[in-house]
Amino acid sequence: MVSSALPSKRKSQPEKSQPENRGSAERPAQLLAWYDRHRRRLPWRAPAGQRSDPYRVWLSEIMLQQTTVKAVGPYFEKFLARWPEVSALGSADLDDVLRMWAGLGYYSRARNLHACAVIVMRAHAGVFPDTEEGLRALPGIGPYTAAAIAAIAFDRLTMPVDGNIERVVSRLFAVEEALPQAKPQIQALAATLLGPSRAGDSAQALMDLGATICTPKKPACALCPLNENCAARERGDQDTFPRKAAKKTGALRRGAAFVVVRGEEVLVQSRPAKGLLGGMTEVPGSEWLAGQEDAAALAQAPELADVKRWHRRLGVVTHVFTHFPLELVVYTAKVPARTRAPNGMRWVPIATLDGEALPNVMRKVVVHGLGE
Ligand code: SF4
Repeated sequence: MVSSALPSKRKSQPEKSQPENRGSAERPAQLLAWYDRHRRRLPWRAPAGQRSDPYRVWLSEIMLQQTTVKAVGPYFEKFLARWPEVSALGSADLDDVLRMWAGLGYYSRARNLHACAVIVMRAHAGVFPDTEEGLRALPGIGPYTAAAIAAIAFDRLTMPVDGNIERVVSRLFAVEEALPQAKPQIQALAATLLGPSRAGDSAQALMDLGATICTPKKPACALCPLNENCAARERGDQDTFPRKAAKKTGALRRGAAFVVVRGEEVLVQSRPAKGLLGGMTEVPGSEWLAGQEDAAALAQAPELADVKRWHRRLGVVTHVFTHFPLELVVYTAKVPARTRAPNGMRWVPIATLDGEALPNVMRKVVVHGLGE
């Protein structure tokens, strides 16, 4: 009896051979020391030792959702130049914000961005709440973004876990459970990398490590400050983490888009405010349906008496949304100067299309339709 009790008592003690325990005391300091030498210079980051501006942190975090640092950089600068503080953004017209956002994708983020700025301006006197809970109550701010702002702008002791951090942590501890089920486990393990202070720097250090050293393919383990206690490196299968459950993608949807040119202008309309690409500008088109035949899509062309025949462009425009891939056949027509826009549609100069809130899929359609 005694002999069976002893092993279980010992099991409750930390086991040095478990990857989560090995080097656990040193990791936070190793990470910060590495960050102090190798931190990336990013437009929204404060210089070393200074507290980040919550507005910049929030703006960058919203822009970075589903988008790369490289793509976000110019948009961040543009937004900051036009709306240097949250109250300026909160006073802006939503259409202007959508126009400035065009090309960044996932447009509900732009609407939430604006709604959030309005609330911070009106209900919080232009000052962001400094707790995760307060931040989460704002539009467009989920658990990750709230933790990121709380840690980076307010030095709250919390660890936001983004895709880069997920990868680093899942390798460091060889997390076998697949994402997304593994998220709570990864979150708990990531929190062990926080020191007693500088939470924002710890989070940014892990983000930078994931972006520059612990990359999805061929991580540069020799340069990694945590390489002595990395379980995946020890096993030599770093590239296989994080484990991922097989992705379910929606069925291919098909449709038609109609590029109608009147002199130097093109016919457009605004999408309904709610739903996919809500409020964005598009050329007229058919519904997007799985298995839709070309003839059925063509039958949904805008009613223009001056169009005797639609010309089908060779090839198709393809685009992948989060939940489904899309294939659009593009039809073109030229109409005389007297042609009026059907109800709900308008003519815009081709030269100013860049200033419209055109989502990427529509940019591709217009390029395809206007191409020689
Ligand atoms: S040792 Fe390699 S796999 Fe492990 S955390 Fe560092 S870079 Fe990633």
